[in-house]
Amino acid sequence: MNETIIYLSYLVAASLFILGIKGLTKPKTAVRGNQLSALGMFIAVVVTLTDQGIISFQWIIAGVLLGSVIGAVFAKKIQMTAMPQMVAMLNGFGGGASLFVALALFMDTNSEAALIPLIAGSITMLIGAVTLSGSLVAFAKLQELISGQPIKVPANKFLNGALFIGSLVLIGLIVANPYQLELAYYLIAAALVLGLVLVLPIGGADMPVVIALLNSYSGIAAATAGFISGNTVLIVSGSLVGASGIILTSIMCKAMNRSLTNVLFGVMADVGEKVDADEVYAGKIKASTADEVAMLLETAQKVIIVPGYGLAMAQAQHAVRELANTLQQRGTQVKYAIHPVAGRMPGHMNVLLAEAEVPYEQLVEMDIINPEFEQTCVAIVIGANDVTNPLAREDKGSPIYGMPILNVDKAKTVVVVKRSLSPGFAGLPNPLFAKDHSLMLFGDGKQAIVDLAANLKEAS
Ligand code: NDP
Repeated sequence: MNETIIYLSYLVAASLFILGIKGLTKPKTAVRGNQLSALGMFIAVVVTLTDQGIISFQWIIAGVLLGSVIGAVFAKKIQMTAMPQMVAMLNGFGGGASLFVALALFMDTNSEAALIPLIAGSITMLIGAVTLSGSLVAFAKLQELISGQPIKVPANKFLNGALFIGSLVLIGLIVANPYQLELAYYLIAAALVLGLVLVLPIGGADMPVVIALLNSYSGIAAATAGFISGNTVLIVSGSLVGASGIILTSIMCKAMNRSLTNVLFGVMADVGEKVDADEVYAGKIKASTADEVAMLLETAQKVIIVPGYGLAMAQAQHAVRELANTLQQRGTQVKYAIHPVAGRMPGHMNVLLAEAEVPYEQLVEMDIINPEFEQTCVAIVIGANDVTNPLAREDKGSPIYGMPILNVDKAKTVVVVKRSLSPGFAGLPNPLFAKDHSLMLFGDGKQAIVDLAANLKEAS
């Protein structure tokens, strides 16, 4: 294919990626954004395949078919609540793919050892392997194959530093001796271990930051892989993923009160003295019933619904919409308070509530809704726990201290819907449940809300 046409096509593909990302910033334009990006990717793939220098089409078609079948089966089977694990896995595979592209460069003894591809190839192996093993650990933690709590690695900081410096030394050696394949294997091994020791000690509330960061790493690995093969569109798309991943990381860091440097160097938040659940809850928990809460709602002028991970687990989004409709028909103002890390992935609550066709304008971001809790008659917390935990504001020793939370406890009455007093993702008791103005409505999120809506309708 003519080189100008190839470059023009890559330019069109890259522009479509950028327009796609722009579209994804708003729920209304998100579907269109997704389609534009997919079109960009289609153009990029077709043009790359028609370009010179690729391996046989039989292998490519076999790979595409196999990958598509596996991808389609996973996409169909995956539960919405397991999406973060899926994203972690996809990041890992992205890093792994770049790693193999780079390794192929070193295995190809016919290739001439030019400096830029050698440096790019070594860096790709380093970042790709860190992304692969780090993402597998993130996956195992989120899938609860291993404990989600921080897993202590002895001499963690020293090990991180030693592995990183060792990897840089290996990169230097590889560039000096490009045909010594075992050096590439040593680098990959060191980087795989680095990925493990980076992610193992990070636990609980920091996991979303790690996922966003690994996402960025997978993009950087793809971009550096683009330098190996001189593929412009891979450099552009990898850089886009790398940059957006870093921006998301920094947004998540702010939402969870983690400094980016700490996350980058794998320093975990110091876990202070553990707050004892019995001490927090003993004699202070008031269990209520759907009937009682419905009576409370009958006279409420303003209600804020606070969704969390349990809402997704219970698939209660449609029931919640029903309840909100009933309240609104009675003249009650209803809003939803959205915490940036509620659920198990960024935007989790937005996606769930959009599925139940809750109007976008009723979803209010944390910073905007927080001052409104004081004028709110009833805050209904459904399956949210950590994102409402006042320990984040009050207890300096708490691992979540400083994490911005929804100020639910400022509402006149708080109703908490969950099945038990079990902790949330961070594994901490929540003093909100023991406050004088808090009522617990124990039960599965969906059933509890259905009962509540039924009682309220009866009263209408
Ligand atoms: P939490 O994990 O703090 O709490 C969820 C609560 O839901 C649990 O306490 C559980 O209590 C309850 N629950 C579970 N199933 C049901 C059900 N069927 N019906 C009713 N309740 C149920 O959730 P939050 O959303 O408040 O906080 C998110 C946490 O996840 C934060 O710590 C965040 O850092 C972390 N995280 C966030 C990610 C993100 O990007 N959003 C990604 C990864 C982690 P019980 O068992 O008693 O019912």
